[in-house]
Amino acid sequence: MSNTQTAAEPLPFGGGWEGAFRADFPILSRTVHGHPLIYLDNGATTQKPRCVIDAMTDEYLNVNANVHRGVHYLSQQATDLHEAARETIRRFINARSTAEIVFTRGTTESINLVAATFGQACMQDGDEVILTAMEHHSNIVPWQLLQARTRIIIKVCPITDDGRLDLEALQQLFTPRTRLLSLTAVSNVLGTVNPIRDIIRMAHAHDVPVLIDAAQAAPHLPLDVQDLDCDFLAFSGHKIYGPTGIGVLYGKEAWLDRLPPYMGGGEMIGKVTFEHTTFNELPYKFEAGTPDYVATTGLARALDYVTAIGLDNIQQHEQALTSYAREQLSQVPGIRFFGPSDDAVISFLVGDIHHLDLGTLLDQLGIAVRTGHHCAEPLMHRLGVEGTVRASFALYNTREEVDALVAGILRIQKMFR
Ligand SMILES: *Cc1c(COP(=O)(O)O)cnc(C)c1O
Repeated sequence: MSNTQTAAEPLPFGGGWEGAFRADFPILSRTVHGHPLIYLDNGATTQKPRCVIDAMTDEYLNVNANVHRGVHYLSQQATDLHEAARETIRRFINARSTAEIVFTRGTTESINLVAATFGQACMQDGDEVILTAMEHHSNIVPWQLLQARTRIIIKVCPITDDGRLDLEALQQLFTPRTRLLSLTAVSNVLGTVNPIRDIIRMAHAHDVPVLIDAAQAAPHLPLDVQDLDCDFLAFSGHKIYGPTGIGVLYGKEAWLDRLPPYMGGGEMIGKVTFEHTTFNELPYKFEAGTPDYVATTGLARALDYVTAIGLDNIQQHEQALTSYAREQLSQVPGIRFFGPSDDAVISFLVGDIHHLDLGTLLDQLGIAVRTGHHCAEPLMHRLGVEGTVRASFALYNTREEVDALVAGILRIQKMFR
């Protein structure tokens, strides 16, 4: 493929690291309302490096053909790229086999897939699933949809006032009817990094499998599914510098084998001409229809990019930036923080300025932040607020941008005095 872009050698934070990779992201040089763009909405989606855009453009320009279906050259080349992407993803999360890597449209579809198929195969009326008070709607509503078919019981692990899971309360929620624990590794609102390794061990001690929502974790922390020993794990391409519309469901092979297809898979399998005779039932059983094979290439390129920089380096940079931001934002009179902001996410409110007003006025200064309930309305109820302002960071954000955010908030605050 053309335009291979190699990330520079990682440099220590505070040295040349800051801003070192900004040039890889073309969009970061644009202006918004006459100001340089300061993009602090990475929890919602990240920007894409040129290498991802180029890999996808290159595939459309030079390779495009449907995968797994043709004997012709382009189809085989497209299939090779698609399956190489699956291998890149397997390596990225250290799954045992590519049979355990299912392509979906994103975290939401991955969780819906598990809720529907696990619900069908493994849950009966009166069985229980445990969620937590800090889940994204995409890890709440699929279970409620399942409830319409099977009268399962949803139990919710509470959080403490400082925005952490109450692990003692969690321990008490397990019963002989508990069939699954499904929780986020990192809160998209509070920035809490949950101790998922310990939690998985706790659940397994009760013989309960665990689904990890890694939508927020994957871009910020190294994940090793074998070390974690999670049973399922979901993440989205667009939050980790990859394209939108593509995501991953990891499942242990034994579990995926047990689950029925999600969408018209059987029929699809009957019709497909497998030129590569090595195809097994998994993971294709869960991949009905033409996949977004260009997006899978883009996602693989994004993971290569992240790996070249090093997730450890990215994590170090983002955590230092997050602490710096918490410190600097503390100067703002009347600011209230929500959650511990362990990693890359800071939620706050300033005095009685409405979150929407603050977000709209920051936008006028070219600063993109998120406002509202962040797809976590039950958590907002728990926090006793209608919404918050959220700044969320990525590998390309800098302390200069944090300074601009703080200056912007102070300026807006004066308007309300
Ligand atoms: C963004 C997000 C999701 C949903 O991801 P999609 O890409 O919209 O499917 C789920 N959980 C968390 C924690 C998220 O941040």
